[in-house]
Amino acid sequence: MELRLYDTFTRQKLAFVPLDAANVLMYVCGPTVYDFAHIGNARPVIVFDVLFRLLRHVYGADHVTYVRNITNVDDKINARAARDFPQLPLNEAIRRVTEITERQFHEDVDALGNRRPSVEPRATEHIAEMRDIIERLVAGDFAYVAEDHVLFSPQAMNAANAVLPRYGALSKRSLDEMIAGARIDVAPYKRDATDFVLWKPSKPGEPSWPSPAGIKVGGRPGWHIECSAMAWKHLGEQFDIHGGGIDLVFPHHENELAQSACAFHAERMANVWMHNGFLQVEGDKMSKSLGNFVTIRELLADWPGEVLRLTMLKTHYRSPIDWTLRGMEESAKSLDDWYRFAGDLRMGRPAEAVIDALADDLNTPRMIAELHGLRNEAASGGEADRGRFAASLSLLGFLSKSAAEWESQKRQAGGVDEGAVQALIEARTSARARKDFRESDRIRDELAAMGIAIKDSKEGTTWEIAR
Ligand code: AMP
Ligand code: ZN
Repeated sequence: MELRLYDTFTRQKLAFVPLDAANVLMYVCGPTVYDFAHIGNARPVIVFDVLFRLLRHVYGADHVTYVRNITNVDDKINARAARDFPQLPLNEAIRRVTEITERQFHEDVDALGNRRPSVEPRATEHIAEMRDIIERLVAGDFAYVAEDHVLFSPQAMNAANAVLPRYGALSKRSLDEMIAGARIDVAPYKRDATDFVLWKPSKPGEPSWPSPAGIKVGGRPGWHIECSAMAWKHLGEQFDIHGGGIDLVFPHHENELAQSACAFHAERMANVWMHNGFLQVEGDKMSKSLGNFVTIRELLADWPGEVLRLTMLKTHYRSPIDWTLRGMEESAKSLDDWYRFAGDLRMGRPAEAVIDALADDLNTPRMIAELHGLRNEAASGGEADRGRFAASLSLLGFLSKSAAEWESQKRQAGGVDEGAVQALIEARTSARARKDFRESDRIRDELAAMGIAIKDSKEGTTWEIAR
């Protein structure tokens, strides 16, 4: 078996050769934690979880390090914190928002059958590494200080006579065209329109850390430098695979690559860049204004996580995916059949045909076709065939339950709308925070009428179905 992966940088499907087969290194850009994750956000999580599982199978479970960060410094987080906890100091409110959202994210992606990554670094715990990279970039004349900001200069990068990749090489954009097409309302402190922020001054009350490069006022990092710093800390100057959604190629990954390559005088950051295609819902782009914006939490109220997982994997990760009710219904049917048949089987070894399909740039549609074939072989074959089928499902994150658990879970889902309960609990928390106890009591009664009992503690509010 040869593992082949499509690399966005070279636009080619290439044989994968790790820098060190004893420790394969993968970084995937994780969530910005300010709200429930939507089903589009679940796509990179599931796709790169399948790759993580494949790499563990090929190189050994202890020989793969998977880093997925948590972005917990961001303007969207600040805005959400000010809205939801207006009575708290901003930093305390931000801590609440990021803690709650991080917990929700974990609950959601766990329910989709994903393994936890090896490391989940938080941006705020890597400020020292960000400052270090920024100092290197300033010392190398790739970045400069202006009005208490530090800015990266793509033009300085491309003028440097070094091993560096050209700025724009990953996203296949030419810097000259970017310069020509730049907007006119460029921030006055930028030397060139294409310069991007590495560090910026914090506004009063905002999170703030001592600044690099001799800047006297406190500041905070830009988004791109966060990932360069976390990848460096946990994987080193160069690593094997860098992943994320296709929307991240430009500017986020182009800028990450520029920062890391210039800071470490390297030709590359990752050897393979992988990007999943976008998800749309019933033929339309998902958006709040179209009203087809759907969170993982809402779907989990009606469907077992494994149904959502199988639905996601029916489309190849680089193609756009159209998320439909019909798709989920079909997946539910397949899983019902598989669980009835294999839910209580003893495991064997996963089928080579399944591994081979995945090794071909994660060809999950072919893998699913193989699973249907294995199911039929198992039905007419012996114990070894059945073991192979069960082990194949398990390797991919299915069959996490017994056949009986699967049946009873199906009965539970649909009974309570977990998304609605969660939304009411949040509205109540918010009402309590602004001391609107009439509203918070009203919501408690509404939940009680739905048969939901809630319990408040220091950690937050939990709920259960009242018996
Ligand atoms: P964000 O929180 O917007 O930074 O997104 C987190 C991850 O989800 C990134 O890897 C995005 O590329 C990915 N993502 C966001 N929206 C979609 C979508 N509609 N389809 C597929 N991936 C998405
Ligand atoms: Zn990133």
